[in-house]
Amino acid sequence: MITVLEPATEAALAEIPAADEEQLDAAVARAKESYPTWRALAPGERARKLRELTLALEHHHEELAQLEARNVGKPIADARAEMAMVIDTFGYYAGAPEWPHGDTIPVAGGQAFTVREPLGVVGLITPWNFPLLIASWKLAPALAAGNTVVLKPAVLTPMTALRFEEIASEAGIPEGVVNVLVGSGATVGQRLVEHPDVAKIAFTGSTEVGRQIAAGAAPTIKRVTLELGGKSPNIVFADADLARAAAAAPGAVFGNAGQDCCARSRILVQREAIDEFMHALGEAVRSMRVGDPLDERTQMGPLISAGQRETVSSFLNDGAPIAIRGSAPDGPGYWFAPTVLAPVDPGARAAREEIFGPIAVVIPFVDEADAVALANDTIYGLSGSVWTRDGAKALRVARALQCGVLSINSNTSVRVATPFGGFKQSGYGRELGPDALDAYSEVKSIFFATS
Ligand code: NDP
Repeated sequence: MITVLEPATEAALAEIPAADEEQLDAAVARAKESYPTWRALAPGERARKLRELTLALEHHHEELAQLEARNVGKPIADARAEMAMVIDTFGYYAGAPEWPHGDTIPVAGGQAFTVREPLGVVGLITPWNFPLLIASWKLAPALAAGNTVVLKPAVLTPMTALRFEEIASEAGIPEGVVNVLVGSGATVGQRLVEHPDVAKIAFTGSTEVGRQIAAGAAPTIKRVTLELGGKSPNIVFADADLARAAAAAPGAVFGNAGQDCCARSRILVQREAIDEFMHALGEAVRSMRVGDPLDERTQMGPLISAGQRETVSSFLNDGAPIAIRGSAPDGPGYWFAPTVLAPVDPGARAAREEIFGPIAVVIPFVDEADAVALANDTIYGLSGSVWTRDGAKALRVARALQCGVLSINSNTSVRVATPFGGFKQSGYGRELGPDALDAYSEVKSIFFATS
């Protein structure tokens, strides 16, 4: 049995039987059996079923938000916003079966054209930080493209995925099209990756496990998309609206208690602006409300587990230059106060490793070239921000940064309609937007002779 905990209280939320490899094989077999029928549905019919699922999710919006807030320890306001995006994601891709796709290509002797075919059974492996949200970015395009799925959520946070499976069934998604299996990554996750009847793995999680997944998928030449870690820069030039940049910075790194692959955890500030910026940042961090996830006013909850708190704490060893410390509750729960280290040497461990907790580092820079060099000096390349009032400089820096998602005078990373994914060791493949459908289908080129 798996005991699922509430990170804010350390109390048990549920006891769930852990699936084994045999059950995984059975889930893949169900998905394989249901694939020909799901794939053969008329595009308008598959779209109708996905619209009905979208409406059912809307009906369960608050229930799913409460469940996610309790299981992850995230503020209820954030959980509601995430569930709204889950609904929007299904709403967006519900139309996709009827979107035009493919090309007609001029060739001699006939007509050449391309079509997109679904892959078959797709395995989805998801993390604990945004459980149903990240699952929806995979589920919705995979189903819209005509695939059937086996979803393995993280054992720490399986509650909303299990509820999703029930809601999908009640909404009329045919038996076997959506299969959710709760079991450990090392056993059922690994088996899903290696399974000969699984055509593709879509994974979000750590870069280390991403490497294992790419290796495990190689013998069967599985398609793989990987959305991995990050160490994203938040670059603040001296000519920026410093008050706005400083007020927005805590949300960009301490949101979800810093357990966010897009966390802007390296704040690069131009030297001449550092005093003014740090003063405003201090006020913003100290005013953050850290506490009960179910309190409407809470802005940051606890970390996911005792283990995660231990890992995060290791970055505050002797000599860590703690410049700003917010507050956190005492007592049960995996609490950790939002913390800013400054100034931090770019070679320091806290500046190089993904902390995945509420610790930000501030690194001073001299000029534009220095900012770009520091920002790109990492194995990661997921997201980033640039704050300046100089439009040309903003665009130059945006083009020079090696990352998949970038915002100017803003810290947003994800939108349903725009592609999301990483450069370098932050992964490959794109989720969301029209691009996600490419990751769940193959191009077929057809030639029809007319002579
Ligand atoms: P993992 O990468 O270990 O877990 C992500 C998912 O992969 C979970 O469902 C996990 O299963 C599964 N998994 C683990 N090992 C395997 C395997 N060999 N084969 C197939 N599936 C597997 O992330 P963690 O949860 O351990 O978090 C560790 C670190 O990863 C964090 O501190 C953070 O740095 C990073 N991370 C990044 C995320 C992102 O959004 N990019 C999200 C989460 C973590 P299970 O855990 O259930 O056993």
